[in-house]
This record gives sequence, C-alpha cells and structure tokens, in this order.
Amino acid sequence: LLEVSGLTKTFGTNRVLDGVDFEVRRGEVVALIGPSGSGKTTVLRSLNGLETPEAGTVAFADGPRVDFAAPVSKADRIALRDRSAMVFQHHNLFPHRTVLQNVTEGPVHAHGVPKAEAVARAEALLDRVGLSEKRDAYPFELSGGQQQRVGIVRALALQPALLLFDEPTSALDSELVGEVLLVLKELAEEGWTMVIVTHELAFAREVADEVLFFDNGIVLERGAPKELFSRPQHERTRRFIDRIL
Ligand code: ATP
Repeated sequence: LLEVSGLTKTFGTNRVLDGVDFEVRRGEVVALIGPSGSGKTTVLRSLNGLETPEAGTVAFADGPRVDFAAPVSKADRIALRDRSAMVFQHHNLFPHRTVLQNVTEGPVHAHGVPKAEAVARAEALLDRVGLSEKRDAYPFELSGGQQQRVGIVRALALQPALLLFDEPTSALDSELVGEVLLVLKELAEEGWTMVIVTHELAFAREVADEVLFFDNGIVLERGAPKELFSRPQHERTRRFIDRIL
C-alpha cells in the first residue's frame, strides 16, 4: 500500500529522522515502538502531510508519490492527507458538537458525502463500538475511553486507506485502556491497514504484523513481533523491551 524511504527531518539542529525506510502492506498492522523522542510521531505526521520532512519519499501504491526533496505541491499535500486518517493521543473532538456531529463533520464537509448517508454510516460505526446510545451526547459527557472510541469512529467514517494512531491509549486511565485496545484489535481483524505508535508492547506483540523499533531517528530493528520481542538483535532494543514489558 505504502512505501516510505529515506525520510529525514531536522528541527533546528535536532535531526529527528535520519533516513527512515519501511513498507506497509494492505491489511497489515505496523507498530512503531521506541524511546520517547526517537521520532515515531514525526514519522506518523509525515505520512499524512502534517509534517514536511526535508528529504525522503512517501509513495502510496495508487498515488500519491511525494518526494520531499522537492517542493511539495498543495495537490500532493491534499492527496496525502486524504489517504489516511489520524487518531491522536487526545481525541481532539469538537467540544460543542455532539458525538454524531463530530463523526459526520469530516465526511460531509471534506468529502461531500450527503448528510443522510453520513449519518447512516456514523450510526453503524457507533453501533459497532457500542456507543449508539451516545450519539446525541457531547464529548464532556463521555468517559475518556468512550471519547477515544468516538475519535476512532470519526477516523473510520472518512473511509481512509490507512489508519494512523499516535499513542491512542497513553492519555487514558489504565482501566480504560483495554476497551480502546479491543477496538483496535477488532479493526486489525477486519483487515484495516494501520500504523500505530504505541507504548503498549503486549498489544503490539499480539496484534502487529511488523514492529519497527525506533532509536535516535532511525529504525534500528524491525521484524515480526515474535522474533523482535523474544530475540532482539540489538542491545538497545533488548533494554527497551525489558524495561517496558
Ligand atoms: P514520544 O513517544 O515522546 O511521542 P516520539 O518518538 O514520537 O516520542 P517525536 O514526537 O517524533 O518522538 O519527536 C522527536 C523529537 O523531535 C523530539 O526531540 C521532539 O522534541 C522533537 N520535535 C517534535 N516536533 C517538534 C517541533 N514542531 N519543533 C521542534 N522539535 C520538535
């Protein structure tokens, strides 16, 4: 579905990405793990045009293919943004809109989906994550886990080729983490293509097809979770895993 190569990004004098390469196949779940500040979020943001690297390419199999060494056109940026939907650490729901309005906003206003169709799609998705009865509630009336599930539904409603998750459970109280991870697991089983930045290593081990370990702006090690978690090749990977798992 997607090929990333040579991504390089510097903030001031801080080289945050130093030549990142990886591929995402259709239907695959790729987990990005690694220490804080190693560049995981910056990669995710680069995939959907929120960040502009100085070099490298992001190429979707059926377009767009964006080469960051050249000036990025507005059309490319929009094409990139439209291929994926991002779920953030904090749900970023509109506080003064109901759950249903939050979910239908993108499809109706950005994609021109007719209102009735967007509502039907939203209701079906809310039902799937067990939130039908909350459709007219406001975000503040929901628990953190419910808010994050609405955030996921909002991303799904855009019907993107790729779902991007930036530490979707790290802002949640521990008792709410499970319900959100369960939704992610179900999406994986349904065949959604997902790239997930996470500190939940047990979840990554169970759900991911491939795990990329980031360290200092590079992918230091990658592989199937079974391999990577049980036989890490690098000392730094081993230490990171031992500390967290
Ligand atoms: P975390 O797990 O803490 O989110 P991460 O691996 O996702 O870490 P990034 O968020 O990609 O790491 O950040 C990598 C580095 O880039 C950090 O040192 C961060 O301070 C820096 N950085 C990120 N965004 C900016 C920005 N807009 N301006 C300056 N520095 C930034």
